[in-house]
Amino acid sequence: MTSSSIDILIIGAGPTGLMLACQLSLYPNITFRIIDKNSSRTINSRALAVHARSIELFAQLNLAEKALAQGKFIDKMSVFIRGKHRCSLDLTLIRTEQQSLFTHYPYILFLEQSVTEQLLETFLNEHNIKVERQTEAIDFIDIDSMNDNDVQVILSTGETIQTKYICACDGARSIVRHKLNLPFHGRTYSESLFVADCQVDNAPLGTDQAGVFLASSGLSGLLPMTNNRYRLFGTIHEQNETDETISIDEAAHLLKQRSKHFNMNVHDCSWISVYRSHHRHITKFRYRNRYFLLGDAAHIHSPVGGQGMNTGLQDAHNLAWKLAYVLTYSARDCLLDTYHDERSTIAKTLVNTTDRAFAFLSSTYWATRFVRLFIAPILFQFIVQPLFIYLRKFRQAVFLGLSQLGITYRSLNVYDYGASAGNFHQNTPQPGDRFPYVIFDPCHYHFVIFERQQLIKVNQFVEFIKKEYSKMIKIHDSYEEKIPLKLEGAILIRPDGYIAYRTNVFDIRHFQCYFHQFFPTEMM
Ligand SMILES: Cc1cc2nc3c(=O)[nH]c(=O)nc-3n(C[C@H](O)[C@H](O)[C@H](O)COP(=O)(O)OP(=O)(O)OC[C@H]3O[C@@H](n4cnc5c(N)ncnc54)[C@H](O)[C@@H]3O)c2cc1C
Repeated sequence: MTSSSIDILIIGAGPTGLMLACQLSLYPNITFRIIDKNSSRTINSRALAVHARSIELFAQLNLAEKALAQGKFIDKMSVFIRGKHRCSLDLTLIRTEQQSLFTHYPYILFLEQSVTEQLLETFLNEHNIKVERQTEAIDFIDIDSMNDNDVQVILSTGETIQTKYICACDGARSIVRHKLNLPFHGRTYSESLFVADCQVDNAPLGTDQAGVFLASSGLSGLLPMTNNRYRLFGTIHEQNETDETISIDEAAHLLKQRSKHFNMNVHDCSWISVYRSHHRHITKFRYRNRYFLLGDAAHIHSPVGGQGMNTGLQDAHNLAWKLAYVLTYSARDCLLDTYHDERSTIAKTLVNTTDRAFAFLSSTYWATRFVRLFIAPILFQFIVQPLFIYLRKFRQAVFLGLSQLGITYRSLNVYDYGASAGNFHQNTPQPGDRFPYVIFDPCHYHFVIFERQQLIKVNQFVEFIKKEYSKMIKIHDSYEEKIPLKLEGAILIRPDGYIAYRTNVFDIRHFQCYFHQFFPTEMM
């Protein structure tokens, strides 16, 4: 049984695949399908943290308000070491700094992954796209060929799909990665982790607070969920690989042991799971031109900072418009290479930083344990907490890192030449930076004019854009958009909200040369 050919096959309908499908559904001329081997969405809470940058992506899909209404904001994160409270980071301070952080969403939202997936899938259904469940990709016919032809994918249903691009959003055990023989560099931690959704009486935390308890036997923690429930988590040492289970009583015992003086009572557990954490990533996010790997299929890391799902969502957001522009506006193929350039760098950095943090928190090596139990309390109490309270720059740097709002692609080759025309003040946002002031629609480039002089040049430039690129680029006036940025010139923003180009000389030739790298003008 062979089906007609399509543009894109998305394998996997976890958060990454669903976000990719939602973004692609905004382009009516693209044919794509999304398949998943499971019969239903996850019903487990799994990834809880939805960071500010992910909420911005939801906002582009008009889903932010729904997500905020169903989740929970975290007000405080506390650290307890050997049974003593050592430090609390008051996140409500961040909320009052919305203006200087330039985000509409200056919080950490806790939303169960099952709800996140439901929001995205409902959006898809409203756009008349259904996830094809109980449909597993089992083989790829041209997997060994080096040419650029469409790929044929054999499904468990007996169908063969012919597709131009394959987007592997098929999770940590990705079949695409295995079939392509891509090495997954990194290692598996010796410690296992448990997670349990339950009720906890006498927790030394408010219902909007997260807490971590460090002790010589390891680490446990509590994250608040809706309905007065908590996510209890912790490390398990010496777990043997074939016996990866834990009872809720054992998990409660570990919490008691690590929190020492607090007499917490854990009960009504609705889900408990043990898993082994890894830190691994592939080196190429695009393979043989036709294959893209995203989310857990491309990078997995420890749960420190709750970055996993968020990074997968950003991968999907980064790739979706590039595929759409190649298929809809005949953008050059090299635009797709920038997916690898941009996202693999982020993933590698993330895997390394979360690895260092996890190793510090969980290592059983005596020296690390000594620092964790005897030096860290002093650092947390006398340095980290005061800095967070009194130094706005420090506080905001922590938040920008955690929330993924601080991600920039500025240092990449793609921005080395031609993305900036004229001389700008060093504080002016640069190509590769996120444009933080307005969340524009995700299907267009946006050319925002700040310039109030050189009106003849500006008008000529605008007329040129309207003539050549009217389908792709929308023009905005910074004043009308109420953008609180003082600047002479104009900025071109990509569909994913990152700055592509800036000019204050309005040289049409220069812009043409820049844009021609990705878009042959005659195709417009
Ligand atoms: C217990 C737990 C707690 C976590 N906590 C957090 C957290 O707090 N914050 C955070 O950011 N992350 C967290 N994570 C990680 C987070 O869940 C993952 O990063 C996220 O689910 C990755 O999304 P994904 O879409 O890339 O992959 P997945 O969610 O794994 O989805 C992959 C999908 O592909 C499907 N699939 C696989 N193979 C095939 C095939 N051959 N054909 C068709 N379909 C296929 C699978 O059925 C699955 O639905 C947690 C994970 C776990 C397990």
